[in-house]
Amino acid sequence: GATVRFEAVRFGYEAARPILQELSFEIPAGKKVAVVGPSGAGKSTLARLLYRFYDVDGGRISIDGQDIRTVSQASLRRAIGIVPQDTVLFNDTVAYNIAYGRPGATREEIEAAARAAHIHDFIAASPKGYETLVGERGLKLSGGEKQRVAIARTLLKDPPLLIFDEATSALDSRNERAIQAELEAVGRNKTVLVIAHRLSTVVDAHEILVMEAGRVVERGRHAELLARQ
Ligand code: ADP
Ligand code: ADP
Repeated sequence: GATVRFEAVRFGYEAARPILQELSFEIPAGKKVAVVGPSGAGKSTLARLLYRFYDVDGGRISIDGQDIRTVSQASLRRAIGIVPQDTVLFNDTVAYNIAYGRPGATREEIEAAARAAHIHDFIAASPKGYETLVGERGLKLSGGEKQRVAIARTLLKDPPLLIFDEATSALDSRNERAIQAELEAVGRNKTVLVIAHRLSTVVDAHEILVMEAGRVVERGRHAELLARQ
């Protein structure tokens, strides 16, 4: 596992408009912290900062005590796996899409990850199997199937730190429950940042941060937050 720490983080996309203000929290190694709050609260922004799409304006973000600005882009990307809301797949083969995070993976490893993500059967059933093209000219995948490909990719990559950014928000309720169960299994014993809209989906988090307009307005375990409502 990896310990993630945000210390008094400040950030704005434009100088005149701060999005995150003095944001501090820690995700101990192997634990799950959830961030909930309304749309526009700044939840995805903090994921983007952790992945260094952007750098903080003030404060610091560290992994195992090391400021992420001193970590190479390549090792940061190796350390972090992201399952976003809408996984965009490459217009390439299923195998390529699963192995994307771990170039050089063997066919056996790819199939094992696909099996664990429960997509092996329908891929094996298509005429070219793992060589089937995804997208425009090939396999048409549903939202749930795409998320399973993203999960297989994450399993194969096996990073110590995971970000689930509303990974089930675009799914119907049946798929949502199934994919949530898969995400829970993937995140076991890993350091996980879960971004969600609703408290009800993150019952098991070590800590839940409730954000509004760039600030943490409440924090605690699920039962504590419910008791205060
Ligand atoms: P959430 O994930 O909680 O819905 P975001 O982190 O996506 O919120 O966005 C927080 C705020 O930052 C919003 O007001 C949004 O409009 C703004 N924002 C997000 N991305 C950008 C961007 N690339 N440029 C400028 N403003 C942005
Ligand atoms: P929305 O209200 O947008 O549908 P939810 O609050 O249902 O969003 O959940 C948001 C995200 O939290 C999900 O997409 C999923 O990625 C993640 N998630 C929910 N529960 C868990 C869990 N127990 N473990 C890991 N990830 C979870």
